[in-house]
Amino acid sequence: MSDSSNTPKVGFVSLGCPKALVDSEQILTQLRAEGYETAKSYEGADLVIVNTCGFIDAAVQESLDAIGEALHENGKVIVTGCLGAKKDAQGHDMIRSIHPKVLEVTGPHALTEVMTAVHRHLPKPHDPFLDLVPAQGVKLTPKHFAYLKISEGCNHRCSFCIIPSMRGDLVSRPIADLMLEAENLFKAGVKELLVISQDTSAYGVDVKFRVGFWNGKPVKTHMTQLVEALGELARNYGAWVRLHYVYPYPHVDQIIPLMQEGIILPYLDVPLQHAHPEVLKRMKRPASGEKNLDRILAWRTMCPDITIRSTLIAGFPGETEEQFNYLLEFLKEAEIDRLGCFAYSPVEGATANALDNPVPDEIREDRRGRVMELQEQISKKRLKAKVGRTLRVLLDDVNRQGGTGRSSADAPEIDGVVYVKPYFEPHKKLLVGEFVDVKVTTSDAHDLWAEPV
Ligand code: SF4
Repeated sequence: MSDSSNTPKVGFVSLGCPKALVDSEQILTQLRAEGYETAKSYEGADLVIVNTCGFIDAAVQESLDAIGEALHENGKVIVTGCLGAKKDAQGHDMIRSIHPKVLEVTGPHALTEVMTAVHRHLPKPHDPFLDLVPAQGVKLTPKHFAYLKISEGCNHRCSFCIIPSMRGDLVSRPIADLMLEAENLFKAGVKELLVISQDTSAYGVDVKFRVGFWNGKPVKTHMTQLVEALGELARNYGAWVRLHYVYPYPHVDQIIPLMQEGIILPYLDVPLQHAHPEVLKRMKRPASGEKNLDRILAWRTMCPDITIRSTLIAGFPGETEEQFNYLLEFLKEAEIDRLGCFAYSPVEGATANALDNPVPDEIREDRRGRVMELQEQISKKRLKAKVGRTLRVLLDDVNRQGGTGRSSADAPEIDGVVYVKPYFEPHKKLLVGEFVDVKVTTSDAHDLWAEPV
């Protein structure tokens, strides 16, 4: 056995979106596989890795502050993640110009480079305990849900986004690897699998939808086949599969029947960003030519229980009052269930910065406020329609007052929740990570209240 006091310890700071979280999990899994320990404090660590986010200016600042703090508290810092790929106005590596003392900098999704940097500055322990790593790897999410990242990068070039310049073009993970990872997660007790990527509908495009194998059967590297296989696998473990970042291409229609049949959750996260064709064109959005309203209404006919989540940008350069009103009308008709709306904010390096007719700050904010006001009414109405219904809820938290959980309509951290009363019968207990059937008693504009049935 190794002496734990001699085991090299690595501190880890993980910032950013679920995709960055998956990168963090892969690095932590590898560290554990090689026998490193993770330290809970800066002082206890021999070295600190900071996984950064560079998507919007606030995230850049948060990442730079985290690097500064790690340097101050520990001194030995390796930086990875999206900000690592970012250049400053002079074309120099941004992190090195601000924090020249960092040991190494890599971009996102750079497991091998990060591990090489770790080996250089904190040599591997002599006797790695490979068998100490659980088959499902090290998860940063609670035990009952996990993210499955199906691809890296993106082939689109939306004018407001710099992700492709940081993460590169689409690279789909082999379907057999994904199925194996999902199976290990379900075996380890995961009850909800959240499928993520930059563009889930594009899965397999880069490998021309080549055929892979799972359990001896051929499965195409294609979103529909992947989702079907994941749904069937999840069913065997009594678990849920939820899809994020799906663009409204025609082939997405093929997965709606899987939702209606209960193979995957009736939930679709479709980042629309706008509704007006001219604005979408200026944004260079994928599927901008699709008739999104017709498509959404058709999905609702095919699967009446479907929850649609989306994000919008208000005040994009050149957006006229008329185009903005078109967006409001779209919202009224589409009745998106869950919506986030951002006032347009220029991101350094994005081509949208060069577009004519920027919308003044106060108008962008005002439009964002108007979208959210309308959304509040829509959400309130749609949630009210659930009062009296029985829903299945996955519990994230339990205390003496009852539990907090999520139904098929609620993704963790971004959507609302269902507050569940304790069981009336004293011998029955609500448990974290367990499903419970509840009857909805009350609603507001975001959340539901319910009692176990
Ligand atoms: S689809 Fe557009 S917004 Fe999404 S990552 Fe690709 S370029 Fe960025």
